[in-house]
Amino acid sequence: MPRRTMPAVPTKPRAFRRAIAATVFLLLALLLAASLLAKMPFASDQVFGKLRSGQLWSEKARYVDDWYAVEAIDDGSYIIAEPKSSQYNSSYLLVGGDRALLIDAGSGERPPNIRSIRALAESLTAKPLMLALSHFHFDHIGDLDAFEGALVLATAELQSRAQGGRLQIAATESLTGPRSLRIQRWLGDGEKIDLGGRAIEIRSTPGHAQESATYIDRERQLVFAGDFLYQHLGGLVVFLPGSDTRVYADEIGELLATTSKAYRYFGAHGKPEFDHDWAGRVQSAMGELASGVAKPVLAESYLAPGLPLHMHRQDQLLIYQPPFIAAQMLYSWRSLAMLGAALALISGMFWCLFRALGRRGSAV
Ligand SMILES: [Zn+2]
Repeated sequence: MPRRTMPAVPTKPRAFRRAIAATVFLLLALLLAASLLAKMPFASDQVFGKLRSGQLWSEKARYVDDWYAVEAIDDGSYIIAEPKSSQYNSSYLLVGGDRALLIDAGSGERPPNIRSIRALAESLTAKPLMLALSHFHFDHIGDLDAFEGALVLATAELQSRAQGGRLQIAATESLTGPRSLRIQRWLGDGEKIDLGGRAIEIRSTPGHAQESATYIDRERQLVFAGDFLYQHLGGLVVFLPGSDTRVYADEIGELLATTSKAYRYFGAHGKPEFDHDWAGRVQSAMGELASGVAKPVLAESYLAPGLPLHMHRQDQLLIYQPPFIAAQMLYSWRSLAMLGAALALISGMFWCLFRALGRRGSAV
């Protein structure tokens, strides 16, 4: 029987395949090592201080069903919270003489037997209801489809994208799937929404997301900041596309300059109410990150389990940004090009190594 010999695999393609495999292996090993180092700093049911998931944040708050809890801030201003939602969400209902404004459309986590946040808001007021959004992340637009549309902050970028009175919210903006938003009216930065004897100012406050908006009732000295400012041990998030620590710090500074210590602040996650001093603390911590003074450590956020992020922490104030690189750099074409170049360089070094080893092996 004739002896069959296996066709020889040329050294060059074999070295190339090995170099690619070694690069992938190296990246996975680095990611695994970073994940093992990154620990979650708080238990997942801790919200802020002694507040735990599902518990009420104040003695004045009441569960109105199995899901929503409501507290009247004053005559005509309501916190509508979802204490059992994974991020302890709050939306806000502001009622004027003629109209009512709901800021944010719920977490999207309500059980199917629970009414929409629109139905809940309409159980608190008989005034015609309008919707405005703090930003487009999925956990603030949950019940968007229960509304005819929303008032939208008129940034040049959003206006250039709108078509036929609608805006397509991209998956990178919602962080889940694309959504379609009907624009009821554009609102300019600083414009006041007239609710009838009550004016709500909208202010562009990028930093967490590019389209982030903060709503201010100057007369009653109330600020509704969405995800721009809040008190939640899950931390403030600047690791997403659109996040920017420098812009964030500057925008908080501008907001603080137009408010005083008498103002009451409300956020979209965690313990709903906080004060001017907390906003000031976030501003200085954000500034430390932006200027490189902060020494963040690798940690896990409950929003991204398993993903090693950089955490800047001062007591109960936590800020998460991507590891080793700021978000505004990470999500740019320049960093993608740099990443590609770095991977090509590492693969190239492995390739040279394997070729040299192959030559030595065949020479022996
Ligand atoms: Zn958000």
